[in-house]
Amino acid sequence: MTVVTPNTTTDKSPNLQERENTAVMVQLQSVTKTYANGSNALLDVNLEVKQGNFLFITGPSGSGKSTLLKLLYGEELATQGTVIVDRCNITSLRGDRLSLLRRRIGIVFQDYKLIPQRTVAENVTVVLQAQGYTRKEIQRRLEPTLKLVGLLTKSECFPDQLSGGEQQRVSIARAIVATPPLLLADEPTGNLDPDNSWQVIQILQKLNSFGATVIVTTHDEQLVRRCNHPIVQVNNGRLCQYYS
Ligand code: ADP
Repeated sequence: MTVVTPNTTTDKSPNLQERENTAVMVQLQSVTKTYANGSNALLDVNLEVKQGNFLFITGPSGSGKSTLLKLLYGEELATQGTVIVDRCNITSLRGDRLSLLRRRIGIVFQDYKLIPQRTVAENVTVVLQAQGYTRKEIQRRLEPTLKLVGLLTKSECFPDQLSGGEQQRVSIARAIVATPPLLLADEPTGNLDPDNSWQVIQILQKLNSFGATVIVTTHDEQLVRRCNHPIVQVNNGRLCQYYS
C-alpha cells in the first residue's frame, strides 16, 4: 500500500503492519522545490510509495505534479529535503550513477516525445540500443512489448500514421521495454479522448499487475474515480489530501 505521511500516525492496524513490511520504492522527506525564478513548486512534501503500488497524483494545473515526478527521475533537484528512489538518494547522484538509476525508471509524457522519422519498432528499440542490449535481446523484447500495448500490427508505421492514442501506446512501449521496476507517467492521457485515456490506464494497470510500481499524474478526476487506486492531491505545492 501507499503511505502518505503529512502527519505521523499511531494507527497500527494489520493493514498498516503489512505496508511496513513491503519495500519502499519512492520516498520524499520534507521536500521543497523552489525554481530559480523564485516560484515555489513544492513545499515540505512527504510521500512514501511502496514497491508494487499504483498511485495517482491529482491537482490543478500549476500545483506541482510534474515537478514532483521530475524530482523522481532527476530532471530537477530538490531545494531542500531528501528524495529516495529505489533505495538511491537521488539528491546526491550525478553522472553515471544517475544514468544507471534512470535506466530503472520508465517515463511516459503527455506529448509522447516520439522520433518522427523512426518507425514504431525503432522508437521502442532505440532505448535498448542506447543501453547496449544485443540485437537478439532487442528482438526478444520487442514483440511481447508491442503486443502488450496492442501495436504488433503497426510496428512498421511512422508516428504520423498513428492516432494520438496509438502514439501514446508507443511511448508506453518505449518506457517499459527494458522492464523498469518504476513507471512514471506525467499526464499520459492529457491529449486523449475518454476511450483512449481508459485504454492507456488499463495498460498501466496491467503493468502494475506484473509488479511495476506506477505513479501517474492527472487532472482528470473522472478517470481517477473509475479506478480503485490510492490518490494524492497536490494543491499549491502541498500534498493536501489522500484517499486510499
Ligand atoms: P503541474 O504539473 O501541476 O501543472 P508544475 O510542477 O509544472 O505543475 O508547476 C508547479 C509550479 O512551478 C508552477 O507555478 C509553475 O509555473 C512552476 N514551474 C514549473 N517549472 C518551472 C521552471 N522550469 N521554472 C520556473 N517555474 C517553474
